[in-house]
Amino acid sequence: MQAIRQQKSYDVCIVGSGAGGGMAAYVLTQAGADVILLEAGGPWDNLKDSAMLTWPYESPRRGGSTKERPFGEFDACIGGWDIEGEPYTTAPGSRFRWWRARMVGGRTNHWGRISLRFGPYDFKRKTRDGLGDDWPIGYEDVAPFYDRVDRLIGVFGSKENLPNEPDGVFLPPPRPRCHELLVKQAADRLRITCIPSRLSILTRPLNGRAACHYCGQCNRGCKVNANFTSTNVLVAPALATGRLTLVTNAMAREVTVDGAGRATGVAYVDKTTGADRHVRARVVVLAASALESARLLLNSRSGLYPNGLANASGTVGKYITDTTGTDVAGFIPKMTDHVPHNHDGVGGMHLYMPWWLGEQKLDFPRGYHIEVWGGTHVPGEGFMGGIHRYPPGGGYGKQLKDDYRRYYGATIGFSGRGEMIPNDDCYCEIDPRTVDRWGIPVLRFHWKWSDHEYKQSKHMQETFRALIAEMGGEVFSPMPTAEQGYGLATGGTIIHELGGTRMGNDPGTSVLNRWCQAHDCKNLFVTDGGPFVSQADKNPTWTILALSMRTSDYIADQMKRRAL
Ligand SMILES: Cc1cc2nc3c(=O)[nH]c(=O)nc-3n(C[C@H](O)[C@H](O)[C@H](O)COP(=O)(O)OP(=O)(O)OC[C@H]3O[C@@H](n4cnc5c(N)ncnc54)[C@H](O)[C@@H]3O)c2cc1C
Ligand code: SF4
Repeated sequence: MQAIRQQKSYDVCIVGSGAGGGMAAYVLTQAGADVILLEAGGPWDNLKDSAMLTWPYESPRRGGSTKERPFGEFDACIGGWDIEGEPYTTAPGSRFRWWRARMVGGRTNHWGRISLRFGPYDFKRKTRDGLGDDWPIGYEDVAPFYDRVDRLIGVFGSKENLPNEPDGVFLPPPRPRCHELLVKQAADRLRITCIPSRLSILTRPLNGRAACHYCGQCNRGCKVNANFTSTNVLVAPALATGRLTLVTNAMAREVTVDGAGRATGVAYVDKTTGADRHVRARVVVLAASALESARLLLNSRSGLYPNGLANASGTVGKYITDTTGTDVAGFIPKMTDHVPHNHDGVGGMHLYMPWWLGEQKLDFPRGYHIEVWGGTHVPGEGFMGGIHRYPPGGGYGKQLKDDYRRYYGATIGFSGRGEMIPNDDCYCEIDPRTVDRWGIPVLRFHWKWSDHEYKQSKHMQETFRALIAEMGGEVFSPMPTAEQGYGLATGGTIIHELGGTRMGNDPGTSVLNRWCQAHDCKNLFVTDGGPFVSQADKNPTWTILALSMRTSDYIADQMKRRAL
């Protein structure tokens, strides 16, 4: 089909408005560039559309999930594991799940806002333990951008001077709540480092944004803009410059190139009409999320690039990772019948446990951090499901209602989030037989955890069980066996997928250079999780933001010098 071509040529075309794309739009428009941002999802604005402060009884569903809101109808993310008309496939024997957001701001509308810097060791892991690969850059290259991201967006935390857990420019952290104090006591006794968490939620007003009023509903989107979303912290100011054109419901199909192999723009489908369109630009920035950007490159085939754009090395879609994860929950008898008290806080944990065993010799490499959940939030649909596991074993009528009151808030949970090592069995490619509703070929995933990840999950399970025992509690579930993979979550489920367009110094083994610029196509960049060389035991988004800012500065500079 002939695409409708725009006459105008922009300085930069960005694909995707999440963390990576929003930051690129912010920095490039501030630098004076004329930018167009293509977003596959529709408009959604947390200031207006959030379900903040909605009571469960205000909806017949009581907040239960819907097809496009799998995490509940009040959750701020439109998208999910299965999007109608947008399939993906898995190779025989592989299990992988892919969460996709389809809205302005992407997953930053409902993410957990755990905002951790990678540490100096995380960029040079191969040098330290011989596994995976080093990044072509080090912590010192990214540190100034982490500082700028902290100051622009806001993150709370505490100065701890821990090795490989760099401190940031922090706002004061909120005080731990009752259940978190008990966790802290148990962690101290077990010598597990437990410190204030680091979340991008404002505990003080910042840059014209209000401070958090502790309603604890961050996943619904914040109506007062006190937590970070790309939509209202990055894209809105970019629009205010007058230099950003935001096109929603624009599903990018491929990056187009000229005879010299330079990117000329992006072909996309207008989802509202189904029409094929094309936008022209001097520079193309992909930020459609790590795996989707790999898909776009693999689908950008031409006579010059028969295996896809920027894929001379054959590594597009390779070296993909997800965070490892497993959970344990338990009942803490001493927290039953607690005195009603103010439990207000941010919509996330006030404490967490960074990796505390350093580089000790264990039976698995690298490490993980521990996230804490529990407490007395506003009860929602399905709350305290499984009450039969508490001592009275369930019941009916008044006794059951009394038990809900007695046991509410007496549950503690721990989630491990750890580092996977990239391996040759985890990659994505174009499925030759399946296309989406617009005829765009889809991704097929190959996935295989190695013993490293299984052993790490075993260590997580044992640690969480020890913590619950130390609190005098009872764990709800038996220890998962080796056959059950020690409870390791299916690949993709932790929703921290990275890689697929990794950076490196060697064009033969990487897609991008140290500026996240394609080795094979100088006016093409990637600013989502794709460029990551390794995963780290930290959540990735603060690093996506810092790298996107760094790459965008570089693009602005190169454009000024007319080198792009
Ligand atoms: C429930 C949840 C909790 C999380 N918690 C944390 C956390 O606490 N800390 C942390 O660091 N990370 C967390 N994450 C992960 C975090 O959300 C992601 O790392 C981050 O948002 C990725 O940003 P991105 O810009 O790469 O992608 P996205 O946010 O996914 O944005 C990509 C955008 O591109 C658009 N798009 C996709 N394909 C196309 C196309 N072909 N054409 C045009 N547009 C396209 C999408 O619609 C989307 O808006 C969490 C994720 C989830 C789902
Ligand atoms: S807890 Fe704070 S940041 Fe989160 S939604 Fe409520 S007011 Fe906003």
